[in-house]
Amino acid sequence: MGKIKNKLIVAGPCAVEKKSQLYNTVKHIYNYTDIIRAGIWKGRTSPNSYPGVGEKALPWIQDIQNQYQIPVAIEVGNTRHVELALKYDIKIMWLGARTTVNPFAVQDIAESVRNLNIEIWIKNPIVSDLKLWIGAINRFHRVGVKNIKTIHRGFYSDNNIHYRNQPRWDLLNSFKKRYSEIPVLSDPSHLTGDTKHVEKLSLESLKEGIDGFMFEVHNNPHKALSDEKQQLNPKDFKTLIDQLTIKCN
Ligand code: PEP
Ligand code: MN
Repeated sequence: MGKIKNKLIVAGPCAVEKKSQLYNTVKHIYNYTDIIRAGIWKGRTSPNSYPGVGEKALPWIQDIQNQYQIPVAIEVGNTRHVELALKYDIKIMWLGARTTVNPFAVQDIAESVRNLNIEIWIKNPIVSDLKLWIGAINRFHRVGVKNIKTIHRGFYSDNNIHYRNQPRWDLLNSFKKRYSEIPVLSDPSHLTGDTKHVEKLSLESLKEGIDGFMFEVHNNPHKALSDEKQQLNPKDFKTLIDQLTIKCN
């Protein structure tokens, strides 16, 4: 388990864009994180937004897992994604906030991993409906997935909020009361939408008793094809982890 006492750290690019970007990011951060995140398929709100590099990144990910002996987690949005991920030894897959809202999609994905020894992470749905989140988790429990984690990435709000998404610690606490055995990660990158707020939100997350973090890190955030404002560069990411480590110990 990572540098911050008993907290799991997941870090990596929002979207995989090209081979050099993925390898250059991983090279700088692999010893500061427990697991690499890599979005190869992006479920974007608009079809005009960058969709991720797609399946051609799968061999790169397999190579990184072997070369650095570190697991890589990817987002899956349908059963084809799952089948391809399994083919390339990817053992951790997450459902994005736009997938968790759709019981048909969640059920299909759950069926495709029935009784497999893989780990599934479920991001909270975009809307603040705790039942929808729990429903998604139950679908994976029912097909025999034992390793489940959840990710608090905040909720869409019509109000003029300070962050990209609204943190709802109250919902998270209700969730934790019901499922104390399921670890909860905080995603300060998507919660805040801005690197300048990531440290503050991370500290707040620690106070709320989260079990770990997911951070977006890009080797050159200014040139990122998605979520450029919220992706940390490797140097700032390492400084952040060092800061959190000091504050936590
Ligand atoms: C992501 O993790 O890159 C992502 C798209 O997040 P979310 O599903 O939380 O919007
Ligand atoms: Mn992102």
